[in-house]
Amino acid sequence: MTTRSLPSSEDAPRSDCVFCRIVKGEIPCHKVYEDKEYLGFLDITPRNPGHSLIVTKRHYRWVDDAPQFGSYFEAAKRVGLALKSAMGALSVSYLTLGNEVPHAHIWVVPRYRDDGHGGVIDWKLVKQIPPEEMKRIASLLSKGINTSV
Ligand SMILES: [Zn+2]
Repeated sequence: MTTRSLPSSEDAPRSDCVFCRIVKGEIPCHKVYEDKEYLGFLDITPRNPGHSLIVTKRHYRWVDDAPQFGSYFEAAKRVGLALKSAMGALSVSYLTLGNEVPHAHIWVVPRYRDDGHGGVIDWKLVKQIPPEEMKRIASLLSKGINTSV
């Protein structure tokens, strides 16, 4: 029988994971939210202005691998409420798919009047938002987040 080293912890940061690298600050992001467990930032392929991703700071494969499912969605809701109050979103869609990046993330997508998406979000409709505008949106959102919600 051969000896093997113990497998690394499930939730240890991974150098090949883009979201782990964002959490570690190795890849820049437009941050909108942060607490002890979660980080929120603007999606670089936004389906609407303010479209954010909420990721676990630890590496979990799926959203329901995160130990605190409730607080995870509470964090997403804080960003969603800020999208309404600071960005004028009419509603917010909270989505989890998880196939694009293998690290838990919740999509928080604001919906606006005549935003081109129709009844459901058109995934192929990526909005072109200049970097300065992304920066302005991130600032607006982070200021609009009520951490006591
Ligand atoms: Zn990761």
